[in-house]
Amino acid sequence: LRRTNIQAEEYIRGILQGDRVRLSQAITLIESKQTQHQELAHTIIEGCLPHSGNSVRIGITGVPGVGKSTFIEALGQNVSSQGRKLAVLAIDPSSQISKGSILGDKTRMAKLSANPQVYIRPSAAGDSLGGVARKTRETVILCEAAGFDTLIIETVGVGQSEVAVHSMVDFFLLLLLPGAGDELQGIKRGIVEMADLVAVNKADGDNQQRAKRAAADYRNALHLFPPKSSNWEVQVLTCSALSGQGIAEIWHLIEEYCTFTKAKGFFQGQRQSQARYWLHETIQQFLQEQFYHHPQVATLLNERETEVLAQRKSPFHAAEELVKVFLGLEK
Ligand code: GDP
Repeated sequence: LRRTNIQAEEYIRGILQGDRVRLSQAITLIESKQTQHQELAHTIIEGCLPHSGNSVRIGITGVPGVGKSTFIEALGQNVSSQGRKLAVLAIDPSSQISKGSILGDKTRMAKLSANPQVYIRPSAAGDSLGGVARKTRETVILCEAAGFDTLIIETVGVGQSEVAVHSMVDFFLLLLLPGAGDELQGIKRGIVEMADLVAVNKADGDNQQRAKRAAADYRNALHLFPPKSSNWEVQVLTCSALSGQGIAEIWHLIEEYCTFTKAKGFFQGQRQSQARYWLHETIQQFLQEQFYHHPQVATLLNERETEVLAQRKSPFHAAEELVKVFLGLEK
């Protein structure tokens, strides 16, 4: 334990001094499966926690090809030219299959990668979305402690990963393509509902009129949604990540959002409910993992499943029995 503490202290000192090598090494510990590494990571995170939180956390989503990396590059350059320090992270549950489709190759954000004010970390690999999400959230803490005051967390618009990102950011931005009208481009309604800002990207060249029309359509569609608990009125803007048109306005809006929600206490309140969410979410994940890895449960599970399918046992009764075995209340 003493050794862990001494080691952790070195990491924490390095991170607080903004040492990127130390930061990267600590993130690798977070991502490691080894118990020793995990324990060290916990100590580092807890040492960093009091120095974290002084930031704006921005989530960005949209279908592949909508222009997320081009947009982050443009917004990132804008933000860093104002002297802010930016960290870009990603949650990509498919990264194992596709070998890191998001942020995997840094060439996607060539300018940002070369910018000394910017830190880019590809998505962690993991067995489950929950695991990847937890690692990203812990990485946020370390980045903040290292002095990064602007965090962008990118994810691909496919469903569950948006919920994970939404539950770790202050501001959620949905990127859409011009055209496509109100069927919302296959983007689930729930994702639209999470957005604090909808931006129709690629509003350039021949697309300008179509983008404006699409923005008007979305504006109308959003009127039918219930008001947000922050009382923030969701905006719909057009932009071109390629030309940079509209990017400064979007950053301005994010700042406005922070001022608005901080004045009402919503900003801090939301971070607290997110911390609560992750506490309970992690308990559930942890219990579930332990349950399915329990040797006795693993042996009995097939048996019980067969009985349930043959209608010899009710699923509820079988579940109860298995949980009791897990808890050591029944053999
Ligand atoms: P991602 O998959 O969402 O990260 O999308 P990318 O940023 O990789 O962009 C996909 C393609 O769209 C690339 O060829 C970009 O050059 C292009 N693109 C991105 N933003 C814009 C834009 O604002 N206008 C136009 N015309 N093309 C864009």
